[in-house]
Amino acid sequence: MNHFQKTQDLLSYIDRKDNSSESRGLVPTMGNLHQGHLSLIKKSLEENQETVVSIFVNKKQFNESNDFDSYPRTLQKDLELIKVLFEDYPDKKLIVFSPENQEEVFPKNYKTTISLGEFTQKLCGIDRPGHFDGVTTVIYRLFALIKPCRAYFGLKDYQQFIIIKKMVNDLLLPVKVVGLPTVRDHNGLALSSRNNRLSEREKIDALKLPKAIEGAKSFIQSNKMEELESYRLDLIQDKHWDYFEILDEENFQKPSNETKSFLIAGAYNLKNARLIDNQLVQIKKC
Ligand code: AMP
Repeated sequence: MNHFQKTQDLLSYIDRKDNSSESRGLVPTMGNLHQGHLSLIKKSLEENQETVVSIFVNKKQFNESNDFDSYPRTLQKDLELIKVLFEDYPDKKLIVFSPENQEEVFPKNYKTTISLGEFTQKLCGIDRPGHFDGVTTVIYRLFALIKPCRAYFGLKDYQQFIIIKKMVNDLLLPVKVVGLPTVRDHNGLALSSRNNRLSEREKIDALKLPKAIEGAKSFIQSNKMEELESYRLDLIQDKHWDYFEILDEENFQKPSNETKSFLIAGAYNLKNARLIDNQLVQIKKC
C-alpha cells in the first residue's frame, strides 16, 4: 500500500514508466471511514488492478466554516482500516491519497468551477447553495489527476451520484461511475461519518429518517398517491426536516401518472448533524 500526501508524489506514481495496471478504480471520500466507505473500496479492489482511495475534506463543498472545521478527521484510524481490508487482496495495488492541505488539490491560482445547474438546485441544493458545485469541481479534479477507469460512489448520496454521472456524460469523461447500495446499522440508520456526532438521544431521533422513508415506500407500493402527499405534509410539520420529498427519479420533478421510478429523499437536522437518506421505489405499469 502506498500513501501520498502531496499531489506531485501521487502524479509521479500514477505516471510511472512501469505502470502496467490495466485498470484503476477511484474511491473518493472525506475520511472518518466506516463500513459504507469500505464496501466501495472492496468493490474497487475486486474490479480493478489498482485502487486509489482519496481522503480529502474538500472546503469548497461546505457552506459553513464551522461544519468544515468540525468535520471528523481520523487519518491514522482510516489508514489502519484500509490496511486490514487490503490484506485480503495480495495481488492488487492500493494507493491512499490524503492531500495535506487544500492547496494540494486547488493551487492558489485555481479558478474553474464545474456547475450543472438544474439538478443541483433541488433537495440538498436548496439549503446548501454551491455545495454540488464544490463536489463536481473536486471530483473532476481528482479524475484528471488520478485517471481512473471506474469511480465508486454510495447511493446514500443519490443526488450526488446522479450529478456526477451527468457531469461524466456531458463532459465525455472516460470513467464508469458505479453506484453501490447504502450500508446501514442494525436499526436501519444509514452509516455516516456524521453519526459519530449524535448523542444517544439523537441516535433514536435519527431513526425518524429511515422510518419516514419506509412509510412513504408503502404508500407508493400500494398506489395510494393522495394519502402519500398527506403523509408527507403531515411529516414535515416537524421543523427538523430540511426536506422530505418524493420525486420522479428520471427528471427530479414531482411524480406524474407516468412515473415508474420514485425517489424518496429526506434530510433531517439534529443539533449536531444533518442526516440524509433516500430510497428508490420502482413500480410496474402496464
Ligand atoms: P463521504 O466521505 O461522506 O464523502 O462519502 C464518500 C463516499 O462514501 C460517497 O460516495 C458516499 O456516498 C459513500 N457512502 C457514505 N456513506 C455510505 C453508506 N452508508 N453506504 C454506502 N456508501 C456510503
